[in-house]
Amino acid sequence: MKNFKVCGSEYEEFLIRMEEFHGYRSPGILLGGLMLDTALEKLGPTPYLNVVSETVVCLPDAIQMLTPCTFGNGFLQVFDWGKFAFTAYDRQTLAGMRVWLNYERLVVYPVVRSWFERTGRPREKPPFEQLAAEILAAAPEIIVHRPVRLARALKDSQPVPTGPCPECGESYPLNHGPVCPACRGDAYYTYHTPSEDE
Ligand SMILES: [Zn+2]
Repeated sequence: MKNFKVCGSEYEEFLIRMEEFHGYRSPGILLGGLMLDTALEKLGPTPYLNVVSETVVCLPDAIQMLTPCTFGNGFLQVFDWGKFAFTAYDRQTLAGMRVWLNYERLVVYPVVRSWFERTGRPREKPPFEQLAAEILAAAPEIIVHRPVRLARALKDSQPVPTGPCPECGESYPLNHGPVCPACRGDAYYTYHTPSEDE
């Protein structure tokens, strides 16, 4: 269909990679890919690339799919701010590029706006191709970038000492306090007790 590249992949190839990584065709991953193209082009060569995402939705997957920065290697940080924005930066120079969406220009594109603000009813969600076409048309107008400087690298460079929790016996980072987060009361689970006939 489209004969252009997103983060180095031909468009159709990009859609396939997106489905494999994210599970389905996602307007947010497409928009994130276009935003990453802007960030990395403006940033120039960045040997020690780190990215901080300001939302937990879509953008972290675009970043993991299209850059060497992942949750697991610590070069991607994610803030749960609900803002569709990120900063790509060099962790040695701390020079970066923050990229976000111009809301005033976004509202000119009704299909994108409805998807972005989740105002449409779920059943009326436009097909991906329709959203993608409008995202591609809108991208040059709505994607905004500006150089930034970080106060410090966000990846923990110092290892945190760990030791056993006095209540559950599992190892945890000692800077969490005298007991582990679960024993402190933050457990998101209860253990299933075997039935009486065991
Ligand atoms: Zn514990």
